[in-house]
Amino acid sequence: MGEEDSGEEYLFKIVVIGDSAVGKSNLLSRYARNEFDLNTKATVGVEFQTVCVEINGKEVKAQIWDTAGQERFRAVTSAYYRGALGALIVYDISRRTTFDSVSRWLEELNRSSEDFWKSDGSTSVGNLLLSVLGSLCQQLLPALDSANCMCKAHCDTAVARILVGNKCDLEDIRDVSVEEGKSVAESEGLFFIETSALDSINVKVAFEIAIKEIYNNIS
Ligand code: GDP
Ligand code: MG
Repeated sequence: MGEEDSGEEYLFKIVVIGDSAVGKSNLLSRYARNEFDLNTKATVGVEFQTVCVEINGKEVKAQIWDTAGQERFRAVTSAYYRGALGALIVYDISRRTTFDSVSRWLEELNRSSEDFWKSDGSTSVGNLLLSVLGSLCQQLLPALDSANCMCKAHCDTAVARILVGNKCDLEDIRDVSVEEGKSVAESEGLFFIETSALDSINVKVAFEIAIKEIYNNIS
């Protein structure tokens, strides 16, 4: 509709990172399909879901990537982060260790984008496959301008980053206070929000903060 009028369309890659079992896959399935799964099952393979949102009358496709159960330190490949314009860094408010890991995830995110823009000489077969797959998917989407737009954004501006304290429904076994979350977010220059994928609290808001911030960054 609008996109034909304006001739513009946007494709934003957003990654979801954080320790295992903090609720990354459920946040994504809640946002993309309004589904929640009580059973823990590790995500198999790199997965992404595309969600269309309208911002200022423009159609934006948010391509949101979920880890392949690669949450161990440095196990997430650089291909996962490649081209990402936004990141949700998720912890579980009922497990402090997942909050303690936030700084490590931020380092990994920063390191990966630096590595990418420096050189990509160390590309493994796995990474190569992932990147080919990624670019194929991007080509299949009719978003011809998005590559330019991504590059511009990646070179010129910061990745939109949001700290997400998930499982806020577990108030009775809370292990990380709202204040602590806010304070880390402030010192690292991140947005902050608490969510519950289970009770559908703030999930849409969290993803849309990221999408709007990316939109602002590039326009
Ligand atoms: P991932 O490993 O980070 O992808 O985490 P999952 O999405 O697989 O979730 C791990 C476990 O936490 C599962 O048993 C989910 O049912 C549960 N879970 C996810 N989100 C929430 C939430 O908001 N509240 C509660 N109480 N449990 C959640
Ligand atoms: Mg998962």
